[in-house]
Amino acid sequence: MGTLVSDYGVNSFKHFMAYKNAIMADDETLIKSFRRSMDLGAIPTVHAENGELVFQLQQEMLSKGITGPEGHPMSRPPAVEGEAANRAIRIAEVMNVPIYVVHVSCKESLEAITRARNEGQLVYGEVLAGHLIVDDSVYRHPDAEFSAAHVMSPPFRSKEHQAALWQGLQSGNLQTTATDHCCFCSDQKAAGKDDFTKIPNGTAGVEDRLAVIWDEGVNTGRLTMNEFVAATSTNAAKIFNIYPRKGSVSVGADADLVVWDPKGTRTISAKTHHQNIDFNIFEGRTVTGIPSHTISRGKLVWANGVLDAVRGAGKYVDRPPFNPMFDGLKKYAEVNTPTAVNSD
Ligand SMILES: [Zn+2]
Repeated sequence: MGTLVSDYGVNSFKHFMAYKNAIMADDETLIKSFRRSMDLGAIPTVHAENGELVFQLQQEMLSKGITGPEGHPMSRPPAVEGEAANRAIRIAEVMNVPIYVVHVSCKESLEAITRARNEGQLVYGEVLAGHLIVDDSVYRHPDAEFSAAHVMSPPFRSKEHQAALWQGLQSGNLQTTATDHCCFCSDQKAAGKDDFTKIPNGTAGVEDRLAVIWDEGVNTGRLTMNEFVAATSTNAAKIFNIYPRKGSVSVGADADLVVWDPKGTRTISAKTHHQNIDFNIFEGRTVTGIPSHTISRGKLVWANGVLDAVRGAGKYVDRPPFNPMFDGLKKYAEVNTPTAVNSD
């Protein structure tokens, strides 16, 4: 971790609380890693799902003969996520370290974040375009292949949770939007056709993130244009310490710009998208509000539907550690930690 921060421009570490028998971080790992992150000036992030609960529920589903993709959300109910989010946030509170919760998908996690923020704790929450827009009916689809294509963790949720996530963005308790872009084609998803626990977890979405959030967020009056820019760009740059080089249109900032056409329309489809995957979770959706031009590093790479990008032209951006802020937090913790006194 030290090498990554000092030599490779890394200032955050993701902790998987799910995936028992694979990459799951137990409480001891979380505590030690949060402390180490704090010492390095890096922010811990968490994939919040109770891996032990998921594992036990998966075994129960399989023993009941539920082997199809519908078993995936049944073994990962919202409380599984809410418990882990709250545990991670409480651990961060005790360690006095900021924390960022990735892909918040349900009310329970949002409530844990909101409570902590209201108490003055430095907690950030991210929501995925997919979780905002796609609901859990995809797992009850008659075509199991279609359902398997939607297997990701946390799973898509009911409309009630989606409404809460939009409110989280509106209230500012969720600050960023992402996609957890992770492509598996249908032949790869087929690995789990007789056992849902073997379906590779992941869906794509990075190409459509801005358009679907504009369409469902700004066109519906949930978000203002400025809130859209903050939630899709500026806030992430600020939280991960690369503002104003990123997330700002200003002299000296990187020339990465999107010219937005709020009246332009497009129908999303795997047949026409550029992502290297044969499925699109937003398939068939017609969005109003699309990019007309995209400039990357000062070069026009997208103009009116024509892509002109060069593979490998992107540049890695070092993210500096957060030392000044963390030093302040440490000082605050020292001042406010009660010292031992004689009991008599
Ligand atoms: Zn994750």
